[in-house]
Amino acid sequence: MSRPLYRVLNATLQGYTLVAFWVFIAMFLLAFVSMFVFPPLSIMLVFVGLFGLFGAWAGHRVLGLVVGRIARLLLGGGMCPACGETGVESPPCQCAACGGRFGPEGLQMREEATPASPAAMP
Ligand SMILES: [Zn+2]
Repeated sequence: MSRPLYRVLNATLQGYTLVAFWVFIAMFLLAFVSMFVFPPLSIMLVFVGLFGLFGAWAGHRVLGLVVGRIARLLLGGGMCPACGETGVESPPCQCAACGGRFGPEGLQMREEATPASPAAMP
């Protein structure tokens, strides 16, 4: 598998939840307006939203599995999926060049903000 495909799919995965959130907000606004204009549409949108919730969850899950599989294939070949540097071990691992951390499923782990230690506080 190629690294450009990984980068496109990984970027899609990173923005997936925010896009899904805004799609559901837009559907809510459309349903609210149609409640006064064309009530059957708002009833239909309730069911579309309920089944769409499962669809959004399933789509995110499938995309995560695909991205993880491609990342594991690249890491298995010794290549970092994030920066293309060679000499990376199989997951879970961290790339020495870009600092990208990859979990056991091959998904890149996000950097989490470390809370300030109590000793550093005045
Ligand atoms: Zn890297």
